[in-house]
Amino acid sequence: MSTTEQRVAVVTGAARGIGAATAVRLAAEGRAVAVIDLDEAACKDTVEKITAAGGKAVAVGADVSDEDQVAAAVARVTEELGAPTILVNNAGVLRDNLLFKMSVSDWDTVMNVHLRGSFLMTRAVQKHMVDAGFGRVVNLSSSSALGNRGQVNYSAAKAGLQGFTKTLAIELGKFGITANAVAPGFIATEMTKATADRVGMGFEDFKKAAATQIPVQRVGEPEDIANAIAFFTGEAAGFVSGQVLYVAGGPLD
Ligand code: NAP
Repeated sequence: MSTTEQRVAVVTGAARGIGAATAVRLAAEGRAVAVIDLDEAACKDTVEKITAAGGKAVAVGADVSDEDQVAAAVARVTEELGAPTILVNNAGVLRDNLLFKMSVSDWDTVMNVHLRGSFLMTRAVQKHMVDAGFGRVVNLSSSSALGNRGQVNYSAAKAGLQGFTKTLAIELGKFGITANAVAPGFIATEMTKATADRVGMGFEDFKKAAATQIPVQRVGEPEDIANAIAFFTGEAAGFVSGQVLYVAGGPLD
């Protein structure tokens, strides 16, 4: 790549929340950004935020758990922005329940979006990274990977993503590709708001209660995670690979 060429980043689940903040942040770092989400129209706000700030972005509708849609999305990104060499596997869903009440479909949905989705996206994008001799993959894990009541599906998927990340780092390192995972704690987004709704608490009270359990005494914001992702996707982070960074306002392990 010449120094004047702009690297192309793909961020999944980027219509809102952590994905949107990450897309905006990577664009501010000079990347051209593909904003992928289930509903292409829902990506409009993120794309507009980027273009209004002078950046380059396209909205692409795709379900990351669908092989054909992933192939079509990556082909479109390549045609419209150029070959992607940065991938943030951020798309995610919750289907919380205690084990004895969890349906097979809630188990499968969570596995499909997080694990199958990250696998399909990474497999589709890696050939462009190999061709470029450069790549950055960041997978969104979670503090729930360490175990969390009511999230047997989600915690298994997020722990699975840590193993996925380490193996990517081992297999792809020789092509100039790094893979790392960011594991957020409590971040204020629609996802945590939905959890507050489910347990019958107002979101402000829910956040206040969560903050008391966090050493820095506040909940995280999407930008806290975007900052960590920006580091891992940066040109200077080429010797950092296979790591899991908990971004949770305190130590977790
Ligand atoms: P969010 O606000 O719910 O946003 C997730 C986005 O992913 C939504 O726009 C959603 O679209 C999209 N999405 C869902 N399934 C998809 C699919 N199959 N294909 C493409 N896009 C899909 O969530 P968030 O809080 O920003 O979380 C982002 C990531 O961080 C997730 O992987 C989550 O597990 C992880 N995380 C979050 C927290 C937290 O406290 N918020 C903590 C730890 C980890 P729809 O709206 O159409 O469903």
